Amino acid sequence: MQSDRRTTESALRIVWIYPDLLSTYGDQGNVLVLEQRALRRGIPVETVHVRSADPVPETGDIYLIGGGEDRPQILGAERLRRDGGLNRAVARGAALLAVCAGYQIMGTTFGGEEGQPVPGLELLDIASGRGTARAVGELAAEIAPELGPLPTLTGFENHMGVTWLGSAVRPLSRTIVGIGNGDGTEGCYAGKVIGTYLHGPALARNPALADLLIGWTIGGPPAPLDDTWYDRLRQERLAAVLPAQ
Ligand code: GLN
Repeated sequence: MQSDRRTTESALRIVWIYPDLLSTYGDQGNVLVLEQRALRRGIPVETVHVRSADPVPETGDIYLIGGGEDRPQILGAERLRRDGGLNRAVARGAALLAVCAGYQIMGTTFGGEEGQPVPGLELLDIASGRGTARAVGELAAEIAPELGPLPTLTGFENHMGVTWLGSAVRPLSRTIVGIGNGDGTEGCYAGKVIGTYLHGPALARNPALADLLIGWTIGGPPAPLDDTWYDRLRQERLAAVLPAQ
């Protein structure tokens, strides 16, 4: 753990969970995007990198967890369940963005290496299992209007898992291109917890999601930023998969 103390009361405290186990396809970029978007608005940031041997601090504002292979995913779930810090943080109102393996871990169960059910953290009313074919490629989806309006979601997916949503979560988006949960939806959310299959990293492709998380933490939408470079990346990736508008 790099640091466990708040430098100032007003600092946005970002907690990056298990970079040693769960951080595929550049998911750590989500941390960098959040940090930069807060700093560009004059919001001081303190980031804590929590390795899997360390306890998860309970006083963070925004928690991030990434994707991973099956074995690190099972190990990560076991350690997070035993630690309990992330569950306590969410219970006291922290925001969480969980990606791919991290997303599946937040549910009741997910599929292990042989498809056996492995218990999750039960922070989202979802269950995941292993599908019959790997979902791999670009994804585009329309974000739930209740969260926005927010721009079309773009990202990259690579997973065997399929996810079933229970009645206590809402789909994060409806897929236009790609597989996502496997039922025409991608990701889900409940309260301040967002789960998604998207890499890219997700917040670099979708800075509006980063601002949603920041807004939940500071109590209202943050000031707009010049997003020229983000917009270029988004336009390029969306143009690659969507028919010309
Ligand atoms: N192991 C999980 C699956 O295949 C998650 C993969 C990932 O995080 N990229 O569904």
